[in-house]
Amino acid sequence: MTYQFETIGIVRSCFSEKFAIPRQPSLAPAAKGVVELIAPYNRPEAVAGLEGVSHLWLLFVFHAATSGPAHLRVRPPRLGGNQRVGVFASRSTHRPNPIGQSVVRLDGMEPGRLLISSIDLLDGTPILDIKPYVPYADSLPLARNSLADAAPTLLRVDWLPESLQQARDQAVRLRQPVVELIEQCLAQDPKPAYQRPTEERRYGVRFWDLNVCWHYPQPDRICVISVEEQPPATH
Ligand code: SAM
Repeated sequence: MTYQFETIGIVRSCFSEKFAIPRQPSLAPAAKGVVELIAPYNRPEAVAGLEGVSHLWLLFVFHAATSGPAHLRVRPPRLGGNQRVGVFASRSTHRPNPIGQSVVRLDGMEPGRLLISSIDLLDGTPILDIKPYVPYADSLPLARNSLADAAPTLLRVDWLPESLQQARDQAVRLRQPVVELIEQCLAQDPKPAYQRPTEERRYGVRFWDLNVCWHYPQPDRICVISVEEQPPATH
């Protein structure tokens, strides 16, 4: 059977590309975004009552996931990329229907817009539905998952004096917690788990309109080299 769904909103996010997005929500509280609701869901009636709600479930489309034949087993990055598990035992973006779900913080509301944080969503992500988080039903202290039993171990993130100043300047310009965003996302170690970084190798990612460049002086340490504004290319 086939069902059709309608996009009810679009996420505007600090994450301009997939690389370095945390693998789950709540891992980077400084990761902020906005759900721009689409008519008629941008009317106040649709969000009435959310004033008393701290967190939301977002159901969304992995619109930037590469499509291909449906696989029954996937290799989650969390397991080092070399162990396969059933697709339904993973949160992989490659699934029979490319639907994701994330619990995010609701920081505020403006007409037609929900201000959110602690997100793991790419800019432009289409939202299919929004539901309030219900603590008594959704928080299960006895729940277990032996494949992902704890949050990933964090790497230490250091700065050069110049890169820290650049990040602070950009935080003022963007009015965003840029230093915290970079530290929280890079501490998750964005590079593929199987890669052994050399000290010379440079890595980069785009958050907001910023190019962030770093390297690994040691395998378990990151040093941020630069944080520079890069306006989108004009054609
Ligand atoms: N919390 C969601 C879930 O469990 O369904 C997403 C988990 S998925 C492992 C998280 C990754 O999805 C992020 O690290 C990012 O690379 C990727 N991602 C986020 N938004 C996406 C989008 N719109 N299209 C494709 N990939 C996306």
